[in-house]
Amino acid sequence: MRALCWYSSHDVRIETVPDPKILNPRDAILKITLTAICGSDLHLYDGYIPTMEKGDILGHECMGEVVEVGAKVNNLKPGDRVVVPFTISCGNCYFCTHSEYSLCDNSNPNAYMAEKLFGYSPAGLFGYSHMLGGYAGGQAEYVRVPFADIGPIKIPEGLTDEQVLFLSDIFPTGYQAAENCTIRPGDTIAVWGCGPVGQFAIVSAYLLGASRVIAIDRFPERLEMARTQGKAEVLNYEENDVLTALKDMTGGLGPDACIDAVGLESHGFGIVGWYDKAKQAVRLQTDRPTALRETIQACRKGGTVSIPGVYGGVIDKLPMGAAFNKALTLKMGQTHVQRYLPKLLEHIEQGDLDPSFVITHQLNLDEAPDAYEIFRNKQQECIKVVLRP
Ligand code: NAD
Ligand code: ZN
Repeated sequence: MRALCWYSSHDVRIETVPDPKILNPRDAILKITLTAICGSDLHLYDGYIPTMEKGDILGHECMGEVVEVGAKVNNLKPGDRVVVPFTISCGNCYFCTHSEYSLCDNSNPNAYMAEKLFGYSPAGLFGYSHMLGGYAGGQAEYVRVPFADIGPIKIPEGLTDEQVLFLSDIFPTGYQAAENCTIRPGDTIAVWGCGPVGQFAIVSAYLLGASRVIAIDRFPERLEMARTQGKAEVLNYEENDVLTALKDMTGGLGPDACIDAVGLESHGFGIVGWYDKAKQAVRLQTDRPTALRETIQACRKGGTVSIPGVYGGVIDKLPMGAAFNKALTLKMGQTHVQRYLPKLLEHIEQGDLDPSFVITHQLNLDEAPDAYEIFRNKQQECIKVVLRP
């Protein structure tokens, strides 16, 4: 099959690789009909995740048709059309049985890598390096889906791929980010980053009852989408002092909750060196997490900072004193995708929103290397790219 393979920073290639096979009775094989590039893929593309190996297949937002199931997958059959959560979850461990699917204890055979380095064991993710399980990703013609009896959600007739694909990640991610704000009627929510995740955080904040959303970015087309599709008030951080503007817009109080939908940002942090332990070279992330620092500074006393943006390694110079003395609640983490799927699919079916609004680019899988460049560099007013094998 054809698949997009990682080679090194800014070097990804379409190659012919062996088709995936059922390895486990709870596996399914999916023929992919639509897949997308995520802001999280850019961390791999920019070379910030050290446990990638040459030839690894990228991608964690995909959907398609089931072509084969293992002996223990009783809820799916060949021909079913499904969307696959980016988080791989066993359904049986402490975390899965508490709906904390992205913390699954059984889906990452390489959990020891992070355990040794950082003292925690992450769940497995599709196409996200060996530290997170070494699973082949979904920017390909076919993918093996482990624990297929738990993750994939069947899609009813009448909805297009473009309308449902983002259930795999960015819609639930924006939704969880907003839910973590424990929104009350009358609340004002500020969102840093108007990328795809920020866009879904904005619409989700309104779905959950926010009165006002203020969105921050520097790209005019992203701010425009936040304004027209998301009904947000917008701030260009290159033209405004964000902290002063937010204070002015909220009568001096600050937003009730602040969402960091930026995370690791290439111009926002510096690499200080390599840290070699457990035979894994790990780049330390340090210094200037600008958006995160601003969320803490801007948030009203007693408010919540919600962090869907991805961080890794070590960050310092965080205004911890402000967070403590303002009695802030900080919530963060990978999304518990499976938890939100039925409810969000219902929102789409009812027509409360059509997630395809974020798509600006539709390309063929063979054009994936160009698509990464376009999305990475925000060329051609790109906001979200989908790829069709
Ligand atoms: P993206 O790169 O398209 O968007 C990020 C946006 O942030 C850009 O528009 C950029 O201009 C803006 N930005 C950068 N610095 C800023 C600042 N100081 N203030 C305001 N805006 C700023 O990426 P995306 O696809 O929207 O993803 C956003 C983040 O969410 C990434 O870190 C990604 O890894 C993460 N993510 C997390 C999960 C999860 O499970 N928690 C899932 C998907 C994505
Ligand atoms: Zn993603």
